[in-house]
Amino acid sequence: MSLAKRHALVTGSTSGIGLAIARALAKEGADVVINGFGDKAAIEAERVQIEKEFGVKAFYHGADMAKGAEIEALVVDAKAKMGSVDILVNNAGIQHVSPIEDFPTDKWDAIIAINLSAPFHAMRAAIPGMKAQKWGRIISTASAHSLVASPFKGAYVAAKHGLAGLTKTVALELATSGVTANCISPGYVSTPLVERQIPDTMKARNMTREQVINDVMLAAQPTKQFVSVDQVAALAVFLCSDAAAQITGANLSIDGGWTAG
Ligand code: NAD
Repeated sequence: MSLAKRHALVTGSTSGIGLAIARALAKEGADVVINGFGDKAAIEAERVQIEKEFGVKAFYHGADMAKGAEIEALVVDAKAKMGSVDILVNNAGIQHVSPIEDFPTDKWDAIIAINLSAPFHAMRAAIPGMKAQKWGRIISTASAHSLVASPFKGAYVAAKHGLAGLTKTVALELATSGVTANCISPGYVSTPLVERQIPDTMKARNMTREQVINDVMLAAQPTKQFVSVDQVAALAVFLCSDAAAQITGANLSIDGGWTAG
């Protein structure tokens, strides 16, 4: 297995894309720390399932990615449990859909904290260990919204553009250290996060559920298909391989052609 003896921390991995990435890294032999919110028994069942299915060690840490001190503690704990953090996947993210003049300020603060500041805190804590061992992979789940905007997503678009810029900066700082830093930018992936946006978008645009899916979400995606979580996870696994050692500072689209137009 290509990632045997590697240790991965995946934020926001109790659901959706993060869970698929954690499972894909474990399938390749990496030990993993999963993180995120949700039903405690379901999370524990998932952790045990990863260990059983892939023969690796899996841990859970419930750090709130809105809080810098908890993120630092998460990285310290992940190092203590696994021995190192070789692969950091900044994936936790939230969304809120609203016109700018009505945008709740607490939602703005939370989106910037979780989608942009959390990767900063996690990278800051994990990079010294990666530099010392001259190997590391930092992968941030950005979005097509790190490259283009859509109305009513001001905080999200700002945070994801910021994350793409932060990733480029980190890639340049680490260029000679054996550590790469890249963004993966999916279009619409069918996950709970997308499902939760549908009612708000219905309200903001005065549309039916079918109209939101076909005329808003998949209207932007020329292939007219959702991206799957497994397709995103496969790209993350590739970025961890030796074949990807010269890919750094990149923002890799996986969006059915959305940002080509
Ligand atoms: P999801 O809602 O299914 O999963 C989000 C994960 O983040 C969950 O595990 C949740 O518990 C965790 N999380 C949320 N707030 C947290 C907090 N404060 N502290 C710790 N964990 C927290 O969403 P998803 O669609 O899988 O999204 C994952 C990432 O992919 C996000 O960064 C999102 O912006 C990005 N993304 C998603 C899509 C899409 O279409 N689904 C497209 C582009 C980018």
